[in-house]
Amino acid sequence: MPESYDLNRDMNTLDAPVILFEHVSKEYQQDVHALEDINIRIYKGEFVFIVGSSGSGKSTLIRLLLKEILPSKGKVFVAGREIGRLRRYQVGKYRRSIGVVFQDFRLLKDRNVFDNVAFAQRVVETPKKMIKKQVPRMLSLVGLTDKHKAYPGELSGGQQQRVALARALVNNPVILLADEPTGNLDPKNSWEIMHLLEDINKRGTTVVVVTHNQEIVDQMQKRVITLRNGRVISDEEKGRYRYAKN
Ligand code: ADP
Ligand code: MG
Repeated sequence: MPESYDLNRDMNTLDAPVILFEHVSKEYQQDVHALEDINIRIYKGEFVFIVGSSGSGKSTLIRLLLKEILPSKGKVFVAGREIGRLRRYQVGKYRRSIGVVFQDFRLLKDRNVFDNVAFAQRVVETPKKMIKKQVPRMLSLVGLTDKHKAYPGELSGGQQQRVALARALVNNPVILLADEPTGNLDPKNSWEIMHLLEDINKRGTTVVVVTHNQEIVDQMQKRVITLRNGRVISDEEKGRYRYAKN
C-alpha cells in the first residue's frame, strides 16, 4: 500500500471499473439485511441513477462508498482499490477525493457562499491564490457568481443545492455521489440541478445519483439501477423508473 491515497493518479492507469461492488451485503443488525449480494460495476464517465422505494438500501450504498460504514460481506472497490483496506490515515484523503451532495444541502450556515466552497479547498490546504481562482470558477459553473457574498439562509433551496454542488466539485473529484439531491426542490430547480449534473458528467466526472424523481429518470434516459429490499432487481442502459413495490 503506497503512503498516500491519490484517486486521480490511480484513475490514470485504470481500465477496471471506477466503482465495483463484489458480493456486498450489509446487516446493520443481525438478520436485518439493508443490502444483500450487491454486484455493481460503474465505469469512468458513466451517469447512473440508483432508484428504489424508501428503505431499499440506496443510502447504504452511498455510505459504503464513502467508507462511513463497512460491508458485512463482500468488497467495495473504488478506482481499483479495495476501500476496506484503506488505512485510517488514508480515509480522510480518500473521502475528500469524492464529491458528495445530499438532500439537505449541509452548508455552513454562518459562512457565505464563497467560504462554503472555499472550505473544501482549505481543508486540503490549497494555496490561497488557487482558492481565489477556483472558487469563482465553480460559482460561475453553477450560475451563482453574483451570490458569492450571500449566506445560505438568504438563498432558495435550488441555489443552496448549487452551492453544495460547487463545493463538491471544487477539488476536481473523479466521482460525484448525490443522495436524493432534488428531494427538497420544486420541479424547476430539480431540473436545473439535474442538467448541471449532466454537464458535470460530460466534463468527465462519473456521476451516481440516488433519486425518487420518476419524471427526471424517465426523461434523461441514463443507466438505471433499481433496488428492492436490498437487492438489485434491474440494471438497464437508458432505463426507466420502475415501480419497485415491496
Ligand atoms: P434508502 O436510502 O433506500 O431509503 P437505507 O439505505 O437508508 O435505504 O436503508 C436500508 C435499510 O437499512 C432500511 O431498512 C433501514 O431501516 C436500515 N438502516 C439504515 N440505516 C440504519 C442504521 N444506521 N441502523 C440500523 N438500520 C439501518
Ligand atoms: Mg436514503
